[in-house]
Parts: sequence; C-alpha cells; structure tokens
Amino acid sequence: MLDSLGESLRNTIRKISKAGYVDESLIKEVVRDIQRALLRADVEVHLALKLSKNVERRALEEKPPSGMSHRDFLIKIIYEELVAILGKEKEVALKPQKLMLVGLYGQGKTTTAGKLARYFHKKGLSVALIACDVHRPAAYEQLKQIGEQLNVPVFGIPGEKDARKIAREAVKKMKDYQVQIFDTSGRHALEDDLIEEIKDLKEIIQPDEIFLVLDATIGQQAGKQAKAFHDAVGVTGVIITKMDGSAKGGGALSAVAATGAPVVFIGTGEHLEDLEHFNPTRFISRLLG
Ligand code: GDP
Repeated sequence: MLDSLGESLRNTIRKISKAGYVDESLIKEVVRDIQRALLRADVEVHLALKLSKNVERRALEEKPPSGMSHRDFLIKIIYEELVAILGKEKEVALKPQKLMLVGLYGQGKTTTAGKLARYFHKKGLSVALIACDVHRPAAYEQLKQIGEQLNVPVFGIPGEKDARKIAREAVKKMKDYQVQIFDTSGRHALEDDLIEEIKDLKEIIQPDEIFLVLDATIGQQAGKQAKAFHDAVGVTGVIITKMDGSAKGGGALSAVAATGAPVVFIGTGEHLEDLEHFNPTRFISRLLG
C-alpha cells in the first residue's frame, strides 16, 4: 500500500540527490515540499512549519562536516529533524498500572492487548486482560483464547452490551493484578458514541496509560484519527501494528505529531511475541529508504 507521507518525502530526497548543487532556491523548494507533505499527512500545522523552518535554517546556516557534500548534508538535516519529532523515546515502566487501549476496528487492538499481557507477564508481573470491546462479539472469545495461551486471566461479561458496566466490575474484581490491560471497542469510523464510551471508560478505569493502536498501513488518515482520540481521552503512547508488512508507517509520524505522544511499541506480526520496542532512527530510515 502506498504510504503517501513516506512517498512524498522520498521524492524530496530524490530531488535533492539529483540536483546539480544545493543553493538557496533548492533549499526553499525542498522546505516547501516537506511542508506540503507533512500538512497533507495531517501533521499539525505548527509542527509542520516548525520542522520545515528548522530544516531551512540549518541548511542555510550550517556547514557540512568535511568530506560530506551539501546534498548529503541537506538530506541528513531532514532526517535528523524527522527523528526529532519521534525522538521522545518512552520506556513503558515495569510497574503496577492500568493500561487502556483505544483505536478503530481492525487496527490490532485485541492482538496488541495480548502482546502487552505477554510482555508484562514475562517480566514477572501479574497481569489481567479485560474485554471491554462490546461491539465486536468475537472480541471476548479472542481475548479469552489469548489469555489461555498466556495463562493470564481474562475478565469479560459475555453478551453484555454496556462496556462501562464491564469496566466497573473489572476495576473491582481484578484490582489485585499488578497490570490490568483494558481492550476497548473499535468502530469502522470515529462516531460520537464511541468517543462518549471511551471518555466514560477513562473515568471509570482511571488508567495510567492510554495507548492508541494504529495500523501501519493507515497512512493519510492517521493524523485526524489520532487527534480525535487524543482530544477525547488524551493519548499517552502510540502503538503501530503490522510493521511486518510493506507499509512504511508514515501515518505513525502524523499520529505522533497530532498527539504529542511517543510511539511506545511496534507490532511486527500476528503472534503474541511479535512486539518490539520502538526505535525512532530505524523507523525514519525505513520511511525514507
Ligand atoms: P482489533 O479490531 O483492533 O481488536 O484488531 P485485531 O487485534 O482483531 O487484529 C486485526 C487483524 O490484524 C488480525 O487478523 C490480527 O492477527 C492482525 N494483526 C494485529 N497486529 C498485527 C501485526 O503486528 N502484524 C500483522 N501481520 N498482523 C497483525
């Protein structure tokens, strides 16, 4: 699938590589290209401007280190400024906590809940999974199977249509587990009732972390989607799934930019062990590569 932010940025890099020499007009053109690419990918306006201005200022003021061409230096600056957006690396603490996962349908929330459960369980913490996805009937069963594989308890109320009720019960019944992971409902699109539901769940659960789960192939819509979730509940971290596919994950950059929340993990497969810590430098190399 075409990853439009990555594609535009790669075009810009190609333009620089092919240019005879780097002068002010090329720099300005490149800066305009980057700005346009970021805005089209729903990166917040002030962030897109800040990033492109930084590139412009540095490209005009700084001198390449000896042995490096102006062209490569300009590419290096772009690369560094992109890494800087993602650069706020965040370690998810190994401590008792409540995690709430949010995201649209099919992004990989339930699978990721299982992966996180495995991660904390392996580190020796007691973990409980809580099935608050009431809109996808199979979600509870899916989580239950995952729990059985991991030997981690799963709380849910089969047939219950009110996610709030499940959360209220779970908060009481699962309170002795050190890490409680709440899977929530997704929809095909962001609807008002979904937003209301996750706001209420946040009130009930009082989570320490709210992770937005985004499919790497999402591209263009990532920024808008991330912003809507962020405005509703305040996202504290982003998890990008399906990074094992061909998508380069440009949408992730927009999501991070729209929420100000760092990427905490990436999903690299369908299995429960396919969860990796996020490395901003590697990610940007992939996006531009
Ligand atoms: P939910 O609706 O957001 O809860 O999504 P699911 O967890 O049910 O995942 C939707 C599909 O994506 C399932 O087929 C998962 O196996 C698959 N999936 C989830 N994470 C990954 C990943 O990191 N890589 C791959 N290849 N598939 C994934």
